[in-house]
Amino acid sequence: MKTRNIFALAFVTLIVTAITSPAFGYVLLSPRRRWPTTPVTVRVYNVGNSTITDGDGGVTAVVNAIRAWGIISSSTTSSAAVRGTAPATIMLNSNGGGLCTGSCLAATLTGYYVSQTGDDRIYDADVYTNTSQPLYSSREAGCSGEYDIDSIMTHEVGHVIGIGHSNVAGATMYPSISACNTAPRSLAADDIAARDDLY
Ligand SMILES: [Zn+2]
Repeated sequence: MKTRNIFALAFVTLIVTAITSPAFGYVLLSPRRRWPTTPVTVRVYNVGNSTITDGDGGVTAVVNAIRAWGIISSSTTSSAAVRGTAPATIMLNSNGGGLCTGSCLAATLTGYYVSQTGDDRIYDADVYTNTSQPLYSSREAGCSGEYDIDSIMTHEVGHVIGIGHSNVAGATMYPSISACNTAPRSLAADDIAARDDLY
């Protein structure tokens, strides 16, 4: 089965879950960290992806999809992502200057947090998309060898809020997705447990 990877990046280090994960279940980003309050504001840059033919390049689809987490306040923005400055911004039209190429579908910069007593505090997390991959959204009909942007960005927003990769097949936070699979649009019990651990 053809699959592609959906990554979390911490500046230069990939999250290597095969080594650090327990056999089953979710993994939080390390060090443990979260946004100080909910809902977490996430914006979608209003220039969409040229491979998504739903009228606005996936922008509206992603604004709606990421609300699956239940703690996200989402809308469009005309301001591109500024790394290290809130709000967390999803860029559907940019790979971030080469951050996400090859088999990568999308990547989240998870390195913006500060240490403090208790859980560390996230203050930004921007998401970039591999613009060379064929993508589609919930707002267009049919799928042929394409990857579901609703699923991909629901996964990436899991990284935005502080969650790493899960070894549970079927979890939204599982690190890869096959073409035309839309199941990660809906959170699995494992994803909900991770969210509720942090928030
Ligand atoms: Zn990931």
